[in-house]
Amino acid sequence: MSVQQDKEDELQRRCNRNRKRSQRRKIYCPIHGCYLDSVSKKFYLYADTPGQLQARGVSSRNARMLLAQQQAIPLSDEWLEAFWCQECHQKTWYRIRKRNHIYEVSSVPAEIWQQVTGVIYPDHNPSVSEFTQRQVKKLGYHTGKDFR
Ligand SMILES: [Zn+2]
Repeated sequence: MSVQQDKEDELQRRCNRNRKRSQRRKIYCPIHGCYLDSVSKKFYLYADTPGQLQARGVSSRNARMLLAQQQAIPLSDEWLEAFWCQECHQKTWYRIRKRNHIYEVSSVPAEIWQQVTGVIYPDHNPSVSEFTQRQVKKLGYHTGKDFR
């Protein structure tokens, strides 16, 4: 009995050790299913309409109340993050939603960029934001050829 117990303890220890050694979160490439390496910090999303909060389980009354108090509600379990995939051979921005310790990985819709503060728009994003237009002016670029 006690021997059996020791064995279980040992197994448990080994599992914990493995878990500690692997710092990687379980975030996989949606195309290849392989681990993704994070290459940016997290940029948390905000909800600024009642509908966005209701979609996350907040009652419509509470959603309106929250948004009356502050313009945007930070979402602690949703963020944008750039990842490198060895198979894709490129850096891609993904929207991550954490649900019960499971990470949902999806592509980033254009309108979501506007919910995030501090994100520099990725090069391949076709929408020209106010931010990039300001940057273009500030940097003195004259044509789209200079600014990709
Ligand atoms: Zn990939």
